[in-house]
Amino acid sequence: MLHYALIGHPLGHSLSPQIHRRLFQLEGMEADYLLDDFPPQELEAHLPILRRYAAFNITIPYKTALLDRLAGISENARLYGSVNAVQVKDGRLYGDNTDCTGFLRTLESAGLALRGPVCVAGAGGVGRMFALEAARQGAQVTLAARASSLDKARQVAAEAREKLGAEIAVQPLETLAGPVGLLINATPAGMYPRVEAAPVPRAVVAEASAVFDCIYNPSQTLLLQWARELGKPAVGGMGMLVWQAAAAHELWHGTRFSHRVVGQLIQEMEAVLEEREAQG
Ligand code: NAP
Repeated sequence: MLHYALIGHPLGHSLSPQIHRRLFQLEGMEADYLLDDFPPQELEAHLPILRRYAAFNITIPYKTALLDRLAGISENARLYGSVNAVQVKDGRLYGDNTDCTGFLRTLESAGLALRGPVCVAGAGGVGRMFALEAARQGAQVTLAARASSLDKARQVAAEAREKLGAEIAVQPLETLAGPVGLLINATPAGMYPRVEAAPVPRAVVAEASAVFDCIYNPSQTLLLQWARELGKPAVGGMGMLVWQAAAAHELWHGTRFSHRVVGQLIQEMEAVLEEREAQG
């Protein structure tokens, strides 16, 4: 049997094994998917184990830490400086980034375009990727961050200028006002268990044309609830999580999953989460 894994630390109650095992089932493949949780000081000693997987996914803190251990890296992963899917060929590691594919397919299936004004709240790992991708696609991007990460936001803007010749406007999150276009939450504000929080006030959501919240637990965040009450198109992060996994299988095995099949899997995983939370 082939073995696949998610590596990271700490991994907690990740949904990845359920998602990938369902994808293997849909592909008719005999394979298992494990959680491989080890602390950063063990990364070096762990490399021989990683080389024995057929392929593996990566989450925090290894998305950047593994970059210099790879034999090859895709153009996307190089641009975002982040690898979340690795294929092992003859014991050598080849890295790619399917988080961005997950993001783009989620917008596509919700009928949302990445053009015109786009406002990204949060300048961490995914905020940086969303902002760079939107800038690459020619959107007018504002990267809004709280005071403690304004410097990170400025670095992203400098990177966009240098690598893409594109301008990203940087703004303190608290000062967002007026039309914001597609509003993207790339902060953990509103994530379980602090579900009463939102990255921006309701008045800012009223100024958005649509909302994408990358949080997937809960499936309806306060931000999404406001957007829906205000009649705005709104989509949550479970789509991105399932699509990034489906895109990894596409890279590893050449399987292309339809929007219908992935849509069903997204609903299944939202139900799994709800059941898990109900059980405490
Ligand atoms: P990260 O690197 O830690 O960045 C988080 C950013 O949000 C930082 O700029 C941080 O500011 C800011 N922030 C944190 N709490 C905030 C608050 N209460 N109000 C305003 N800004 C706040 O994290 P990440 O890896 O980018 O992940 C961000 C979110 O995306 C997480 O909730 C994660 O679960 C989600 N995510 C979803 C998927 C998916 O597939 N759906 C994939 C990856 C990540 P400071 O730097 O000042 O702390």
